[in-house]
Amino acid sequence: MKILIPITMSCLFFIGCKEEKKETDTKAMEAQRETEVVEKEPGSSFEINPVSHASAVFNWGDHTIYLDPVGGAEAYKDFQAADLILITDIHGDHLDIATLEGLDTSNAKIIAPAAVAEKLPESFTSQVDVLANGESKDRYGITIEAIPMYNLREEAKDFHVKGRGNGYVLSYKGERVYFSGDTEDISEMRSLKNIDKAFICMNLPYTMTVEKAADAVVDFKPKQVYPYHYRGRPDVSDVSRFKELVNKGDSGIEVIQLDWYPSEPF
Ligand SMILES: [Zn+2]
Repeated sequence: MKILIPITMSCLFFIGCKEEKKETDTKAMEAQRETEVVEKEPGSSFEINPVSHASAVFNWGDHTIYLDPVGGAEAYKDFQAADLILITDIHGDHLDIATLEGLDTSNAKIIAPAAVAEKLPESFTSQVDVLANGESKDRYGITIEAIPMYNLREEAKDFHVKGRGNGYVLSYKGERVYFSGDTEDISEMRSLKNIDKAFICMNLPYTMTVEKAADAVVDFKPKQVYPYHYRGRPDVSDVSRFKELVNKGDSGIEVIQLDWYPSEPF
């Protein structure tokens, strides 16, 4: 069962990628937000709240999970405090120390690659689990596995060097969710198995085209795929084209478009 719940809230909003993040106003803006609630079985519902671009809050069973929280703590004021914070990479659209310091992280475990952990203030050290590509950890009954994320195109290789950042696969009560992080259509993505929900990036020049993203998705066949991180510089990726290509390749994969840029006109 899926329910789309529009929620009006104010949020700090900024987007970007790499160091040249585009910062729209730092003032709070009213934004219409969609929350998707997916009920698989009682007690294990998976609720998706896109915050912006690469950032989201998920409620999975009794757990609250933040993915790459950036944009100021104000953007998270309507959500429960995090149990798990997943950070994929060092760039400003994925890691923002000020946001982390502004959040209530008193009960949170922070999952991050070493390159991110090195940038975190010492006050976070006791709560950080450092995962290298391929490593995994169990927290609150959720298994978190770090998946490589990196660029393949020669001209893009410096954006995301192999081994630095982490995508993640989370497994909980028999369900598996994949967050790609910033990556191209790498073999490690194409060979993923039994993924229920996949969050897939697509933007240029930093990650990949919608064609490559669709091709990879058709290869590993998640049950559902959510395009995210789809604004590049200056263009916004054509996510309807992505949906078209995925469904042409495999009509059994459901493509779900949520609004990851609630303050932008697309
Ligand atoms: Zn990014």
